[in-house]
Amino acid sequence: MDRTDYMILNINSLSTLGKLRKQAYEKFNKLAKNQPIYRWNKDSWMQFESELDEKTLDDLDFESSTFISTDYDDKEINSKHPSSLCGLVNLGSTCFMNSVFQCLNNIPEFIIKILELNDEINAPIISEYKKLVKKMWSGKYNAINPSSLLDNIQDNLPHYSSYRQQDAQEFMNHFLHLIHAEFSIKTTLITELFYGQLQSTVKCLGCQQTEITNEPFTFLPLSMMNSNQKSVLYVKTDGEQRLVSIKVNSSIFFLKDLIDCFIKQHEPTLTSERIQAVQLVDNVITDLYDTRQSLRNIREEELAFVEHPEKTDNEKYIKCQFVDHSTNELFRPSILLICPNQNCSYLHLSEQIDQLLGHLCSMTNAPASAFQLFWRDRQEKTFKLNVETNRNENLPYISAIRITMATKWVDIYRKHCIINHSTDNSMLAKLLANFFREDYLDGDYHCLKCSKRTVAQHKSYLCLPLPHVLIIQLKRFIYDTNSNEKIDTYIRFPLYELDLNEYTVKDDNNNNKLENSSSTKYDLIAVANHTGSLLSGHYTTYAKNNEDKNWYLFDDQYVRKLNSDKDIVTKNAYILVYVQKNLIIKYNK
Ligand SMILES: [Zn+2]
Repeated sequence: MDRTDYMILNINSLSTLGKLRKQAYEKFNKLAKNQPIYRWNKDSWMQFESELDEKTLDDLDFESSTFISTDYDDKEINSKHPSSLCGLVNLGSTCFMNSVFQCLNNIPEFIIKILELNDEINAPIISEYKKLVKKMWSGKYNAINPSSLLDNIQDNLPHYSSYRQQDAQEFMNHFLHLIHAEFSIKTTLITELFYGQLQSTVKCLGCQQTEITNEPFTFLPLSMMNSNQKSVLYVKTDGEQRLVSIKVNSSIFFLKDLIDCFIKQHEPTLTSERIQAVQLVDNVITDLYDTRQSLRNIREEELAFVEHPEKTDNEKYIKCQFVDHSTNELFRPSILLICPNQNCSYLHLSEQIDQLLGHLCSMTNAPASAFQLFWRDRQEKTFKLNVETNRNENLPYISAIRITMATKWVDIYRKHCIINHSTDNSMLAKLLANFFREDYLDGDYHCLKCSKRTVAQHKSYLCLPLPHVLIIQLKRFIYDTNSNEKIDTYIRFPLYELDLNEYTVKDDNNNNKLENSSSTKYDLIAVANHTGSLLSGHYTTYAKNNEDKNWYLFDDQYVRKLNSDKDIVTKNAYILVYVQKNLIIKYNK
């Protein structure tokens, strides 16, 4: 907060603090809500909370010509942030709109095109939107009131006048179409950036004729109906780790039941005693879960099942940790090894360790010199493990084995794991596969070729070129005759390299029309999140800033930097905005 840049506010000394707060926030174009107000007191800022709102300025000893400030977070104001970071004031349940505007505001190519539009264009929504964008990108405001744009939207779409909470995906669609319609031409920046083509093929099983239709689409609505599954990281004793999908039904409440489902569906030879459910954060086991625990209290993205090897009464477990040689960080989850209760030497462990080294080598092609072996005792003292001298010699009070790997190979290993985890096995990939799968139109298909009601096979493909901006809706809201509900399933989705190649139309000659493979690949740029229930919920946006490449949370008037990319994938994700990989360009002011 500095005192060189100020505006004059005239107010009576008998006015209340509440009135001052309201006027000050209005003057700065911010929402007052219950944020504090600050008064300059000789050498520092003094904070006044809203509890004092009833007091008059006289009561609070406000002198004439006092500096006040509304900067509620000093750190946020003073640190350098990209200019396009700007909150949007909530005008009464309008967080769904704010969330959509923030998604769009972080699509650089879209914003550039909006700002390039001629000011004289006779299009009220476009010009109001352009004004809003200009303000948001000016770097002058912490938050802006979008009411003039909203007024214009309400004129066109009266059902947005009620200030009720509405569906963000529906609004995004309406808003993009409103912009498109105002141009009164066929090809607009909206069609150029957001429109794709879906080819739908219906093959009549009576006459074997195929009917092909192409339809434009602006988003892919992915059904969650078949997603009654949990994805859990399964860490095996041989070193392998993979994400497994476990089908569950509504009777599964406790961890114990989930483990039983896992064993039945994936590892029928295991017993539940040999699975330890753990909380895994950054490859560190931060909690061992009791199997009686309710699944409700467990974050699915942190849940891992660690397989325990079989042991006899004369044996005990020790940990095996995998450490990056230079950073000393764990680069994958630890597993358990077995050794005799007493007099353990390297000989007892060599086979198990060799298997793990074999696993690491097979993933990375690292040479033997990339690894070093250590052992630790009860006091966590670390000793070098000498394969020759420790072969038959007792390793007193051994508690763990450490395998270190050179950073170069750790990076390769990590990359391999990330690809496996986030792309191939992501739940999003499964929902996409489900969307594009072949299904049957039973009996209700009227074939135009043979003029009969028949059974037909239906399948959709994406036409090339794919849209520059790909919007995916995770259909969490179910409205049917029986129930209205929200599906809270956690869906893992990739931040980078979502590849849609396998769903594209391949022509008969099998010619690949693609000039380069990157045009089927997408990087995530924004996520609209919905928290709460169907009836009372709140929308926020996570978006990646194109200037500093950091992810930010946009929660109405608040903007906050996210500490880690890991925070982006949550069970609240509702709309995913991906941008074609070679499209992200730099915005120059
Ligand atoms: Zn037919």
